Amino acid sequence: MDSLRSAVGADAVRTDDASLDKYGRDETEDLHFPPSVVVLPSSQREVAAVMGLASHEQVPVTPRGGGTGLSGGALPVRGGILLSLERLDRIRRIDPVDMIAEVEAGVVTAHLQEEVELQGLFYPPDPASRESCFIGGNIAEDSAGPRSCKYGTTRHFVLGLEAVLADGTPITTGAAVRKNAAGYDLTQLLVGSEGTLAVVTAAQLRLLALPKARLTLGLPFQRCDEAANSVAEIFRRGFQPAACEFMEQAAILAAAMKVDVPPQVRECEAFLLLEFDGDRPDLLIEQAAALDAITDQLGATETLVAETEVEQRRMWQIRSAAGEAVKGLSDYKEADTVVPRASIGALLQGAHEIADRHRIRAICYGHAGDGNLHVNLLRGGLELSDWQRRRDSAEDDLFALVVRMGGTVTGEHGIGWTQRRHLEKVRSPEEIHLMNSIKRAFDPTGILNPGKVIPDSY
Ligand SMILES: Cc1cc2nc3c(=O)[nH]c(=O)nc-3n(C[C@H](O)[C@H](O)[C@H](O)COP(=O)(O)OP(=O)(O)OC[C@H]3O[C@@H](n4cnc5c(N)ncnc54)[C@H](O)[C@@H]3O)c2cc1C
Repeated sequence: MDSLRSAVGADAVRTDDASLDKYGRDETEDLHFPPSVVVLPSSQREVAAVMGLASHEQVPVTPRGGGTGLSGGALPVRGGILLSLERLDRIRRIDPVDMIAEVEAGVVTAHLQEEVELQGLFYPPDPASRESCFIGGNIAEDSAGPRSCKYGTTRHFVLGLEAVLADGTPITTGAAVRKNAAGYDLTQLLVGSEGTLAVVTAAQLRLLALPKARLTLGLPFQRCDEAANSVAEIFRRGFQPAACEFMEQAAILAAAMKVDVPPQVRECEAFLLLEFDGDRPDLLIEQAAALDAITDQLGATETLVAETEVEQRRMWQIRSAAGEAVKGLSDYKEADTVVPRASIGALLQGAHEIADRHRIRAICYGHAGDGNLHVNLLRGGLELSDWQRRRDSAEDDLFALVVRMGGTVTGEHGIGWTQRRHLEKVRSPEEIHLMNSIKRAFDPTGILNPGKVIPDSY
């Protein structure tokens, strides 16, 4: 403990009960794994010193960003050091010529977005947790959000990284340039590696020009299947929304307990929320009119148009409130399913059939434009062992369905701790062995975020 204190300063080493309790949790269900010590370095040099000590003593280290993860990646399941990156919170520079931002890992995602927007620039990845998650956590999870429908996920914006290896060696990958074809792409290997290969301390991020106009549309449906099937139809007809989000009635009603929801949305069976963006407001209005012209064929009861920023915020808050509102209803397990867009309707129907079969409640919403449906299984009043049995069997059946549809077991929440048993459903033994070889090349003694991603049997 003394060597940790001299590496980062006494106030950056915490062993009090409140800190161990707080940093022993993230947003994954009700799981709790208190670490032995919480360390809050303020620079890459301090992160390297902590990793050097941990490597020497063979102590597990779990990196942590904002602690908003939903697959338990930041839980210190093997104890040891919880390494919080929250003090590395500087935006170092925003370059309007190359359109690149250089930021430390602990910068809150929404803060970066606000800062770049002041300069007419745009950082699209927008997880619903963006007010509290960090860029480092987003990189570790390859996080996404509604706008990934048009712009892609976090990985599409990462050009270079500063990081620290498990033995304390600082490294840089990539560079602050917009193209780079030199050698293996270690930057992209680290993106989505969930803190198991290196601790990210800073990143160079690609920016875009901020679109000058946005238009948000809401389509209420009286039939859930028609809403889900409309997603494929909208793309088939050539529309390219920046976001295409789906909510079923139970999710809307949960959101309505937190935010204002207009009656025509509260009373519908399902709701699609679409956003279009671009530089020409007139073209957006044209797209809205073109969509409105086919709403009857899609089965929507009307087209709600939010033109002003206030109206748009009001419509978006229905979707933004849904995640926390549904999770507030009961203990839950969220399955982060992904299928081809055209299969969203079949997945939704299948998810409810499976839930009914296991006599468990399911509430669905998600990023339908990416084929990404969050299926929340709710415990309700079930006794603990009964809940766990039904939940696990329902989840297995759900993922079997997803795999049959050509999909995958997580689109954005990662494998982390809670989803490890599902990795083999979508990755071959050869692939997992290769992943394990990569893990050993980066972290030969396995101290960095142990117990995550790769099943113990490998
Ligand atoms: C209400 C709510 C809504 C959400 N909505 C979305 C959404 O729309 N889209 C989405 O993708 N996710 C969403 N999430 C999940 C979560 O916010 C994301 O996974 C987010 O990227 C996690 O970032 P974080 O900073 O909180 O990381 P943490 O939860 O602290 O950590 C997540 C993982 O990253 C690792 N890690 C963190 N920082 C570093 C680092 N600097 N170096 C190496 N490894 C690191 C940790 O070890 C862990 O494995 C949501 C969560 C909540 C609670």
